Amino acid sequence: MSTIADNLSALLTRIDSAAKAADRAPASIQLLAVSKTKPATAIREIHAAGVRDVGENYLQEALAKQQELADLPLIWHFIGPIQSNKTKAIAEHFDWVHSVDRLKIAQRLSEQRPAGLPPLNICLQVNVSGEDSKSGCTPADLPALAEAVMALPNLRLRGLMAIPEPTDDRAAQEAAFATVRQLRDGLDLGLDTLSMGMSHDLEAAIAQGATWIRIGTALFGARDYGAA
Ligand SMILES: *Cc1c(COP(=O)(O)O)cnc(C)c1O
Repeated sequence: MSTIADNLSALLTRIDSAAKAADRAPASIQLLAVSKTKPATAIREIHAAGVRDVGENYLQEALAKQQELADLPLIWHFIGPIQSNKTKAIAEHFDWVHSVDRLKIAQRLSEQRPAGLPPLNICLQVNVSGEDSKSGCTPADLPALAEAVMALPNLRLRGLMAIPEPTDDRAAQEAAFATVRQLRDGLDLGLDTLSMGMSHDLEAAIAQGATWIRIGTALFGARDYGAA
């Protein structure tokens, strides 16, 4: 077995035990393989091992890989910060966007979604750690944003995404993810999606109801961003 297939099988074991511990069906947790900085060949390997959903953070990098992998039936998720001048290509080339945090971006994605494609699946990114530097709308701004996004014709609001402040403390991890779940439930919009949990905190996220976990390092190994 290749390393990536080995990594996947170890990851599926982690997901299974976390699901069992939380009394959840493993199939209720979907795996998004986060391939930023990794070559198209790595995505080809993970697809061959049975993964269908791929998450990318950087538009140009994602578009290049999509071209290389056009023969594969992959589902592409955009998970990085979004500038206005990128919305058109994102609306045209992705199935999901997890990182919408303001109305202007949502409006542009809806306007620019090509006719003939299904509505773009959207998660609103919420900042639950309150760090100034992080993307994500504030919990206070979330209800109005969610109502407005619900009304946009070419988007389908699915739920919330969050990247809590990294910590090794399991109780703190769970508290942050519980906040995301409570925010989603508090919206009372029937949203089915919680995109939360990465390589280091997926167990806590699963315990608190994650439906997408976004996993890079545990599948593809450490990222090398090159010398700065
Ligand atoms: C890079 C990234 C991930 C994956 O993180 P790992 O710790 O490598 O699993 C998940 N979500 C987002 C938004 C990311 O940018």
